[in-house]
Formats: sequence, structure tokens, C-alpha cells
Amino acid sequence: MEEIFHKINEHEQVIFCNDEGTGLRAIIAIHSTRLGPALGGCRMFPYKRIDDALEDCLRLSKGMTYKCAAADVDFGGGKAVIIGDPIKDKSPELFRAFGQYVESLHGRFYTGTDMGTSPEDFIHALKETNCIVGVDEVYGGSGDSSVPTAQGVIYGLQATNKALTGSDQLAGRSYAIQGLGKVGMKVAERLLEEGGDLYVSDINTEAIEQLHIKAKKLGSAIKVLDSYEIYSAHADVFVPCAMGGILNDESISLLQVQAVAGSANNQLLDIHHGKALKDRGILYAPDYIVNSGGLIQVADELYTPNKERVMQKTKAIYTSILNIFEFAEYHGITTVEAANQFCESRIEARTRRNSFFSHMKRPKWDIRG
Ligand code: NAD
Repeated sequence: MEEIFHKINEHEQVIFCNDEGTGLRAIIAIHSTRLGPALGGCRMFPYKRIDDALEDCLRLSKGMTYKCAAADVDFGGGKAVIIGDPIKDKSPELFRAFGQYVESLHGRFYTGTDMGTSPEDFIHALKETNCIVGVDEVYGGSGDSSVPTAQGVIYGLQATNKALTGSDQLAGRSYAIQGLGKVGMKVAERLLEEGGDLYVSDINTEAIEQLHIKAKKLGSAIKVLDSYEIYSAHADVFVPCAMGGILNDESISLLQVQAVAGSANNQLLDIHHGKALKDRGILYAPDYIVNSGGLIQVADELYTPNKERVMQKTKAIYTSILNIFEFAEYHGITTVEAANQFCESRIEARTRRNSFFSHMKRPKWDIRG
């Protein structure tokens, strides 16, 4: 109880949303608006207890403050969770009700898709609020964010190679990729094109088949491993692109790689696993910097969407990762501690101007009936 109060107190605002008519039960947490309005996705999950939903929302919301600071976008951290089963509990009315709660925050919170929600869900919320990001281009959004996210992972891998070998070449190195979804598949294809050697794992056999075809076209081959074997692959870099919490006591003891750099969110089960990686001599590229390409895109969309500008901004991931590695080495701390300290000092150094919100507003998408 003490702990949860402490976490709530770290936040600027936490609201509980109940709408009897639609069955909406949600929590919106705004961790910080110091760098700008809070930005963070909306997750839908059948949490068993309200405490679990709250805990998840608070953790993710705080994480967004750091992620926004690292990506140097003018947003703070926030997050929403909807308590429900994404397979059977969704309805247009539920997302409209959610949109009304977001609108009631008057531009303090921008949201979009996360685990369990899709851009289509937010088309309904968009009828109630303009504080929605990441919907399809025809609705005024910036579309698929996995493109810049995957490009960001490539920059993260180049920076990691540079730190380890002195060269940022992707060719001639081996990579163990966990998850060939929207991000992982794009990363895998690019690494194959560049002449990387791939070990891959995915529970979806169609994804594996798709990559086999791509590899064949390029005259190369991939080595397929099961969900457990991927951790002990004899590769240079482990590239987690599936679920979070995969860097834990057991998996870290299995790793044979020199480094970890991938897109999955919250890869470390616990902060002390950053130290466990360091102790094993494994260089860790902090996930929230490596995977910030998608965030850069949705943050950018509130101006006039421009894909080239997004790709240009995403390039900064390369330098950020190298700076974090250097800072960690110099101070003898983990790369996660270095990244967190870097973000905290950036937040400290900034003051939000009162007029901030005015230039962020875009016209409400006019699709009301
Ligand atoms: P996705 O759902 O499209 O792909 C995930 C893939 O992982 C799927 O192919 C799935 O079959 C596979 N998978 C699931 N469990 C697995 C297991 N045990 N072993 C191997 N493979 C497994 O998701 P995505 O959009 O590609 O995102 C991947 C990760 O990157 C997630 O953690 C996500 O939160 C994070 N991320 C994504 C974006 C984005 O723009 N899409 C941005 C930032 C972070």
C-alpha cells in the first residue's frame, strides 16, 4: 500500500474513468508535463485486480517521461490502461467514452495505440477529442510507427557495433532476433540485406517462412531457434523484438552475446538486471532509446506530418546510444543508470513555457455525423 501511494505521489495526476453505459473502466496517469503535454499509449488488458492495472499504468507513465526526454520531443510522460479483454470487450461506444475522458483533460494528455488496442479503435475516440495520435494517414495521423521504430533499432545496432568493434558496419556480424513482428521483421530484412548473419525465433511460423523466402532471394540463409534456444544463440548481438521482461536472472545466465539492442519495451525484468548484464560483460543499449523511432513519429505528427523529418530525427538514436555508452563507462555505472541520469538532467534543465499548449493544437478531425 505504502509503495503504491509513493508511486501515485510521483505523478501529477491520476484519474479513474468509469462509464456504466459502455462498461468502460480505465485509468489515465500523467506522470509529468514538465517538458510538454503528457504523451503515452493506451493499453487494453483484462487485469484481474484494479491494483494491477494501476501499477502497470503508473510504471508505464513514468517510463514515458524518460522516453520523451531521451527522444528530445516536447512531451511529458503519461499512459492509459483500459481494463477489459481486447478480444470481446471492445465497442465503438467504449472508445468514444474513453475519448471524452481524454478531452476532459484539455490537452494535458495525448494518447494512441499500445498493447491490445489498434489505430482503428482510436478513430472512434477521435470523434470526441483531437488528442489522439498514431491513427491512419487518411484520418490525419502518421500511420504505421514500426517503420521509424525499426530504423531506430538499426541505428542502435550500428552504435552498438561501433562501441564494440570500432566500426558501425552491420555486415559480418551475427544477430539473434527474438520476434519477427512489425518491427522485428523489418530489422531482420535489413540485416539480411546488409550481410548480417541471423538466428531467429518466433512462435508464428508464417513469419519464419516469410523471412526464409526473403533470405533465399538474397542468396543467404537464417538459422531458426525455438523460444528458449534463442537466449543461448552464439551471436554477437541479441535483438529482442517481442515481449518485455525477457532480461532476467535465467536468461542473462544463458546469453552468449556481446551486447543486447532491440525494440521490445521494458526488456529488463528489474532495474538490477542492468547490473547483471554489466557484470557478465554484456553491453546493453537501453530499450527506451533504441525503440524511440515510433515515439518520434507520433510526436512529430502534431505539427505537419513529414516522414523525412521523422527519419532525420530518428538518426539521433545513433549518437544518443554512443553517448550513453561513453557516459556509463566513464562513471562506472550501468547504461540504464546512465540513460536515466541523462534524462533526469534534461528534464531538470528545461522549463515549460505557459503558452506551450497553444501551438500544439490541431483542428479536430471533422468526421462527426
Ligand atoms: P508485434 O506484435 O507486431 O510482433 C511481436 C512478434 O513477437 C510477433 O511476431 C510474435 O509472434 C512474436 N512473439 C511473441 N512471443 C514470442 C516468443 N515467446 N518468442 C518469439 N517470438 C515471440 O509487435 P511489434 O510492433 O513488432 O513490437 C515488438 C516489440 O517492440 C514490443 O515489445 C513493442 O512494445 C515494442 N515497440 C514497438 C514499437 C512499434 O512502433 N511497433 C515501438 C516501440 C516499441
